[in-house]
Amino acid sequence: MNIDAKLGLDVFKLDKEPHIVIAQEVCATVCTNRACLYVCPADLYELDDAKRMTVNWEGCLECGTCMICCEPRALTWSYPRSQFGVQYRMS
Ligand code: SF4
Ligand code: SF4
Repeated sequence: MNIDAKLGLDVFKLDKEPHIVIAQEVCATVCTNRACLYVCPADLYELDDAKRMTVNWEGCLECGTCMICCEPRALTWSYPRSQFGVQYRMS
């Protein structure tokens, strides 16, 4: 089974509030490499039409990579509340 098929087994229970929040002013004024666009294994970061960074947090795998790679510390990141977020299926 390849990785896409494995990820397709996961279930997401969505909370009302995002568990990742982007400080837009930091992205726009400090960031030089936009690392978040390249490191997320689920490819959840993208620029909107106004060139503002967005994250589709609903599909987050909770790996923490974006938080670590965002050198300007523009992300407020927490795990989803108990009972919410990704639920991994092993087979
Ligand atoms: S790496 Fe961090 S500061 Fe840079 S665009 Fe992404 S979220 Fe913004
Ligand atoms: S925690 Fe991982 S899966 Fe979630 S948005 Fe960040 S890099 Fe992507």
